[in-house]
Amino acid sequence: MNNVLCRKAIHGLWGALLLFAGGCTQDAAQTAGERPLTAAVAQELGGRRFQDIDSQADVQGYRIDSGNLAEPLSGRVEGALVMVTDREGALTAIIDRPGRRGTLHVDKAGSRRFVEEPAYDYLKPDTLAERAALPRASDTSGPGSDGAIDALVLFSKQALAVLRSDPVAFALAQLEMSNLGLRNSQVTGVKLRLGGVRVTETDLAVDGSGLGQLQQLLNPLRASYLHDINVGYFEKSPYAGMAYVPGASSINSIHYPLAFRHEVGHNAGGSHCNENGTDNYRFGYQTSGGAHTMLCGNNVPYYSNPQVSYEGRPLGNARTADMARLWREQAGRLSGYSPAFEGVRLIYVSEQPEASAVVATVPGRPRIGVVALSSDVGPTSLTYGGPGMTTLTVKLTGQDGLVRPVNLRALRQIANCPRTTMNSTVVCHPDADGGPVQLIVGYSALDNPGLPPGWYNGTLMLEARNVNDPAWKAPILVSLAVLR
Ligand SMILES: [Zn+2]
Repeated sequence: MNNVLCRKAIHGLWGALLLFAGGCTQDAAQTAGERPLTAAVAQELGGRRFQDIDSQADVQGYRIDSGNLAEPLSGRVEGALVMVTDREGALTAIIDRPGRRGTLHVDKAGSRRFVEEPAYDYLKPDTLAERAALPRASDTSGPGSDGAIDALVLFSKQALAVLRSDPVAFALAQLEMSNLGLRNSQVTGVKLRLGGVRVTETDLAVDGSGLGQLQQLLNPLRASYLHDINVGYFEKSPYAGMAYVPGASSINSIHYPLAFRHEVGHNAGGSHCNENGTDNYRFGYQTSGGAHTMLCGNNVPYYSNPQVSYEGRPLGNARTADMARLWREQAGRLSGYSPAFEGVRLIYVSEQPEASAVVATVPGRPRIGVVALSSDVGPTSLTYGGPGMTTLTVKLTGQDGLVRPVNLRALRQIANCPRTTMNSTVVCHPDADGGPVQLIVGYSALDNPGLPPGWYNGTLMLEARNVNDPAWKAPILVSLAVLR
């Protein structure tokens, strides 16, 4: 099987994704030392090699591949590529290399659209000092500090109209671009994750006042989304991005897909370039060869680190530019704004027909189903039921601030077995053996005839339970952004 066919096989067979992905990884490693690329992406790379690749087979139902783009003869890293692929094969890729910087969208039929990032001076002042109290570094030694920084991402409907693509895939790609920078910069144990997505009908300006408004909107939602940092994407773009330094909020232009990795570096506490050589390591770095780290010009996929060498030169200075050290020191604070959520997150936005998450993978025949925590929402106990679907009634907030009940559809699927109601424990034989148990959530206007038009946002807590092991429970936090 060649690599392209292999990739198609992965996307066509969701139930077998994990099995096939292992085989393809090995094939690719044996043939070229690289992961396979779709032709649509390969033609954007200008002959650069895709290398140092990290692949995650199932992140909230998406596959994520990220790595560096290197000039093939010299091996010099000239940029980066992040690809997020959904189960149908639709792709959102952020491409960053000399002469080509932007977002590539490829739909499941193979139709492609590249949106170029406009030229921008990433040295333009774009920070505000955070006035709110920050969590203390010591707060992070507790259960809240798993090194994962969970992001709640807010899009305006105007930003979605520019994106014209899956906002969940875009949000995952944005966070991964920063994760790639952290890996390149030898920062281990720190990772950005998607905690939820909301949509607002108000397009805030990407500037200081918009940043303040974004933080006021999203900070109070930590109790329900259990997120750490606030990230916004808007259309109106006086700046590519604006962030608190240090802090936990950034507002970004939907037109500038390379802005977020820079802005979140400000959240960590970093400033641009240490031009005066002051005795302070919280800065980005530029080499005499023209490599500008993410904080100091943003043209290579690195945060500054004197231990990392680039074209034979250190990419930082221990006294004046060491963002890697700052990230390590600040990771506890950044991951400590909410307690760590020990469960599964499922993120649904109306742009997707449905969303799903693997709630458990156990050996044998998984007699696992999902229940609501209140009978006002849905069934609260497991049942040996058959095919069908569960209606969940969830209280979501409209643009007018009013909370209204919204009906959603929930299903459960084990491996390739027929879908069942959410709380069913039926397993099919023999396909279910050891197969992943998935929860699937979707929305239909047919179920909500009286709901006024507009976007509705909120969260829902569910719980997976196991008939064979009553002590086992797995909480599921569902993020919902529904368009009526
Ligand atoms: Zn900046």
